Amino acid sequence: VSLIGVKKDIEKLYEAVPQLGNVFKIKDKIGEGTFSSVYLATAQLQVGPEEKIALKHLIPTSHPIRIAAELQCLTVAGGQDNVMGVKYCFRENDHVVIAMPYLEHESFLDILNSLSFQEVREYMFNLFRALKRIHQFGIVHRDVKPSNFLYNRRLKKYALVDFGLAQGTHDTKIELLKFVQSEAQQESSSQNKSHIITGNKISLSGPAPKEPDQQPITKTSVKRPYTSAQIQIKQGKDGKEGSVGLSVQRSVFGERNFNIHSSISHESPAVKLMKQSKTVDIFSRKLATKKKAISTKVMNSGVMRKTTTSCPANPTCDCYATDKVCSICLSSIRRQQVAPRAGTPGFRAPEVLTKCPNQTTAIDMWSAGVIFLSLLSGRYPFYKASDDLTALAQIMTVRGSRETIQAAKTFGKSILCSKEVPAQDLRQLCERLRGIDSKTPKLTSGIQGTVSLDPAFSETTDHKAAHLMPTPQAQRSGSSLLKGDSNGCGNRFEEDTTNLEGWDKVPDEAYDLLDKLLDLNPASRITAEGALLHPFFKDMSL
Ligand code: ADP
Ligand code: MG
Repeated sequence: VSLIGVKKDIEKLYEAVPQLGNVFKIKDKIGEGTFSSVYLATAQLQVGPEEKIALKHLIPTSHPIRIAAELQCLTVAGGQDNVMGVKYCFRENDHVVIAMPYLEHESFLDILNSLSFQEVREYMFNLFRALKRIHQFGIVHRDVKPSNFLYNRRLKKYALVDFGLAQGTHDTKIELLKFVQSEAQQESSSQNKSHIITGNKISLSGPAPKEPDQQPITKTSVKRPYTSAQIQIKQGKDGKEGSVGLSVQRSVFGERNFNIHSSISHESPAVKLMKQSKTVDIFSRKLATKKKAISTKVMNSGVMRKTTTSCPANPTCDCYATDKVCSICLSSIRRQQVAPRAGTPGFRAPEVLTKCPNQTTAIDMWSAGVIFLSLLSGRYPFYKASDDLTALAQIMTVRGSRETIQAAKTFGKSILCSKEVPAQDLRQLCERLRGIDSKTPKLTSGIQGTVSLDPAFSETTDHKAAHLMPTPQAQRSGSSLLKGDSNGCGNRFEEDTTNLEGWDKVPDEAYDLLDKLLDLNPASRITAEGALLHPFFKDMSL
C-alpha cells in the first residue's frame, strides 16, 4: 500500500467520522481486509503518555446487527484472558469504528521458523486461554487463524481479535449472537421447511460446488459473503497477516508451490458431495490442478432461489438510533444471512466443510489444531484451498479418508471419495516437513530442496511433478532460506539454529494434543478447557 494511498484513506476516515479527529491522531493503516480496515492511532486519553489505539473501521455495508454482535463479543467477553477488549465505539451514519487497545504483533509467517519449541508451547497455551474464555460465553469464533490471534513475542502478549464471523451456541450469553445464524443452520432449516429431507445424506463430490459465485450481492448484503473473489482478497491479505507497511510483502504462496509432496507422497483423493435429493455435481478434478471454472447449475438454482429475497436497499425501521432491534431489522438479517458466510477453508473443521447444521465451539478447536500443525511442521498456511471440498480432500490426506468418512457419519454426512488414502503419523509428517531428522538435530530442509515457507498443500501444485523433481525455484528458495535473505530479515538461519533447542526432542504429548485437536469427530474433540489441562502443558499455570 502506497504512502499516499494510506494518507488518503486516513483523510477519508476523518471525513466519514469527524469525531475521531477530536480524540485521535491516526498514524498508519495496519490492516486491510475485505470487511474492515484497521488503523494505528494515538490518543491522549488520560494524564500521562499517549496511548496507542487500534481503530477498526468496518465496511459500511455490514449489517447493523452483525456489527452490534461483534461489538458485544468484545465488550462482554473481551478485555481479559487474551481476548481483545474495546475502549470506545464511534458511529456516524453507516460508518462504525471500534477503538481497541493496540497490540503490536508479529507476522506469523515471519517468525514461524524461528520460534523455539517453548515459545510454541506458550503460544498454544495462550490461544487455549482465549478460546476457553469465549467458549464459556457461548461464542463460537469461527475464524480462528494466526491473523486473528495477535502475538507480541517480546512482551509475550496475546490477543484474540475479530468477532466478525462469530456465532452463538444454543445457550450463548451474547444476546445479539442469537440473531446471527450460520449458513448451514439456515440451509437446514430452510430445507426442512421447503422440502422434506429424509435423513441428511450428503455425499461430497469433487471440488466444490461454487455456490456463492452467482449470488446477487446487494449493497446492503451482510458481511463476509463467501464469494470466491472475496476469499481470494482475504487470502492475499492473510498472506501478510493483515499488516500493511510493517513487513515486506512477499509472494510466498499462491503462485507457486513446489514443496513437500515427496513427503506427503500420495495423491489427494477426489471428493464428492451429493445431496440425497439432488446431485450437486459430479465432476472429478484432481486436487493438484489449477482451479477451473466449474458449472454448478443444480446447486446454484437452489441458492439463487433462496437469496432473491435480500434486504431492501434502504430499510426504514423503528429501531434506528435506539438500543432496540425491531422486527424489520431482525427479519432482514435473517434473510441476508442466507448468503453463505465462512472462515478460511484451510482452517475449517470437517463438520463445517460438510455443512453440518449443529456446529459447536469444537470448530474453533479444530482451527487451533491447524495452527498447531503449522507451528510443528513449519508450514503456513498448512492447507491452502479455495473451496471446502478441496480442503476436505486435503484433510483426508493427513487424517485418512476412511477415518474422515467414518467421522462424518457420526454427524450425519456421507462422503464419497474416489480413492482411499491412509492416515499419516503426525510426528513423522511434521518432522519431515520441518526438515528435522530427530536423530540428527540440524536443519536439513535446504539439503532436501524443500522450503519451509510454503503451504503443505496447495491447489496449484502438480503433485507428481513436485514429487519427481524440485523445480528450479525450489532450489533457489531453498538456498536463499539458508542465507536468510529470502524475506528481507537478516539472520533467519542463525535464529533457526539458536532456537533449534527443543525441536530435536518434541515430546509425544505435543502430537497427542495435536491428534486430539484434529479429531475428525467434533463430539470427542478436545475442548479448550481440556487442552489447558493436557500433559503437554504440565508445568504451565494459568
Ligand atoms: P478483519 O475482520 O478485517 O479480518 P480484524 O479484526 O481481524 O479485521 O483486524 C485485521 C488486522 O488488523 C489484524 O489481523 C491485525 O493485524 C490488525 N489488528 C486488529 N486489531 C488490532 C489491535 N487491537 N491491535 C493491533 N492490531 C490489530
Ligand atoms: Mg481478521
